[in-house]
Amino acid sequence: MKIVLLGECMVEFFQLVENVYHQNFAGDVYNTAVYLKRAAPNLDVQFFSAVGTDLVSDQLVAAVDAEKIGTSLLLRNKTARPGLYMINTDCFGERSFVYWRDSSAAKQVMQLFAAQQKQAELLTSQWFYFSGISLAILSAADREQLFVLLAKLKAAGIKLIFDPNYRPALWQNNGNDIAQCREAFIKAYQLADIALPGLDDHKVLFEANHAEDVLAQLKALGVPEILVKNGKEGVLLYADGQSQAISAVQVKKVVDTTAAGDSFNGGYLAARLQGANAVKSAEYAAALAGFVVQHTGAIVSRDNFALFSQDHPLDFAGATL
Ligand code: ADP
Repeated sequence: MKIVLLGECMVEFFQLVENVYHQNFAGDVYNTAVYLKRAAPNLDVQFFSAVGTDLVSDQLVAAVDAEKIGTSLLLRNKTARPGLYMINTDCFGERSFVYWRDSSAAKQVMQLFAAQQKQAELLTSQWFYFSGISLAILSAADREQLFVLLAKLKAAGIKLIFDPNYRPALWQNNGNDIAQCREAFIKAYQLADIALPGLDDHKVLFEANHAEDVLAQLKALGVPEILVKNGKEGVLLYADGQSQAISAVQVKKVVDTTAAGDSFNGGYLAARLQGANAVKSAEYAAALAGFVVQHTGAIVSRDNFALFSQDHPLDFAGATL
């Protein structure tokens, strides 16, 4: 079973103390790919993006490779470098993010993809995952090309998975208004086989007040499987024509909610793509996201992930599925 995930991975600088930073690689879709592959090592997970030809790009590719995620769709862009962001923490523990991604290599992914004729590699996949951030970083023309590609993939029987991950600043910085964003998300939902929105995304964009409002909207758009994420309130799941609330796990101390949604998506897909039903998959995902929010940074260390896996074995013989 193969899944391709389209997104941007950036250089992350996480502030430890004043003027001292820990360097890592992260980005919403990449985080999901990492958790998906760690939880389901048997799946063929491919990261579709673009990086440069510089030293940091080589390190980024090596980091993806070290996670056993396929890099043959990680295209090289001779004229650009990866994006970068810093996470600073103030004296009250509040985090703030500053980005340098306006000219990142990943923005050129569709043009490189066309030039390098990689379509055949996508067509051997069964699943294709993308987010609202994958859409937001593209120019309007490249976004159109992506929608043409998505329609082709869908026609070829490939299932599409979409998380809107709405970031207003990213759409505005790229010269788009809110109406263009809404239009792109609606198109994405109309193609999606699984949608993983956050209630917060829809509060601003579509004036939703409750998870039920999001569900009603996406059902009307024809999405067959929907998970509306709502932080510690848990998830409203719709699958096989039924809806059900899935509770978040009780967490003693929330340390850092970065990547809660990304890890939830990775956990859900790890179970679901291996044949678990939607409810069991969402429960596994909630356990994983609940673990991730108790650790700093987007991606927990491999040792910490191994501790989680010991307590939550994801195997068909075990109780988890
Ligand atoms: P996003 O990061 O996309 O905004 P959410 O904040 O809705 O996503 O979180 C996704 C999932 O992570 C939730 O559905 C829940 O399972 C888990 N989660 C998030 N915050 C908490 C928390 N404080 N305690 C326990 N689980 C949490």
